[in-house]
Amino acid sequence: MSSAVNPRPYVEETIPFTAGDGFECNLIHVKSEKTPTRGPVVLVHGAGVRANLFRAPVKTTIVDALLDHGYDVWLENWRASIDLPPNEWTLDKAAVYDHPAAIKKIVEKTGFDEVKAVIHCQGSTSFMMSAVAGLVPQVKTIVANAVTLHPVVPRFSETKLNVAVPLMSLVTDYLNPQWGLHAPTLTAKAVNLLVKATHHECKNAVCKQVSFTYGTGFPALWLHENINNDTHEWLKQEFASVPLTFFKQMARCVRKGNLISVDGYKELPADFCAQPPQTDARFVLTAGAKNLCFLPSSQVKTFDWLEQQHKDFHKLHIFPTYGHLDVFMGKNAARDTFPVILGALDGTI
Ligand SMILES: [Zn+2]
Repeated sequence: MSSAVNPRPYVEETIPFTAGDGFECNLIHVKSEKTPTRGPVVLVHGAGVRANLFRAPVKTTIVDALLDHGYDVWLENWRASIDLPPNEWTLDKAAVYDHPAAIKKIVEKTGFDEVKAVIHCQGSTSFMMSAVAGLVPQVKTIVANAVTLHPVVPRFSETKLNVAVPLMSLVTDYLNPQWGLHAPTLTAKAVNLLVKATHHECKNAVCKQVSFTYGTGFPALWLHENINNDTHEWLKQEFASVPLTFFKQMARCVRKGNLISVDGYKELPADFCAQPPQTDARFVLTAGAKNLCFLPSSQVKTFDWLEQQHKDFHKLHIFPTYGHLDVFMGKNAARDTFPVILGALDGTI
């Protein structure tokens, strides 16, 4: 669909990689006609979406901007991707098994020993876990959007995490915004009725289910005025299954005030903020001031923590008129947010 507005002659290659526990993931390597003049950058998507989320039907996507700027662009489909078989993932599993294997594969394929990363939402939290646990030492520059080590959510979302998620887990292992289009089970039908009764912000059933699933807002993950009609329609196909195992971990992290591990892997600390980060990477944290999935104070808290570790090294940038995903798929993101992301990767911001 994006080709209608974005007819750029790219060559794409899907490169499988095997995560540390044998789960099959992949990387999409996007190449333009231009030979890269800079090193590799990996883009890491959030929960219940896929790598394609970075390529909304807008004139210039973040992928276009990175390629135009000379970067070698890799999109990681980690185990939360809807292009992979549904599975009960945790942030721990992604941190230990997926991201280190993805980075290793990029290093192997490119010959570069350093990789930069643009990470978003649960791609960001899980990748941060890898980074601060010292599992991705090849990554020296990380641009992280929405949330990193300190998840702060609106009060109503906290109630949903603490009350609704345990109740939902009695009847289902997954939530799925596709239920807005097709509700195959009684649970799906019940959720659909609830969303229809409570969300009147637009006529897009998936858009409304996404707000119900991930936040507190109408909508929760973008401002309608920031996305074009094609993107609003396109996003119907970009959200699907997300396991309650993720929400259960996030509920515990929100209660704690920062990320904690839940699976007991020896590679990860129990509390990610209880010791200095085991990385010399520079972090540039970004957030939309109007984010109703994770509040911008999430990023402020992590920035303050990083500042305590290494003063005047990291950066924080808040986009005043943006929410959560419109930072990447907004119709004016190429003008408003991409220059910050490119500058952060280049080291000029
Ligand atoms: Zn909508």
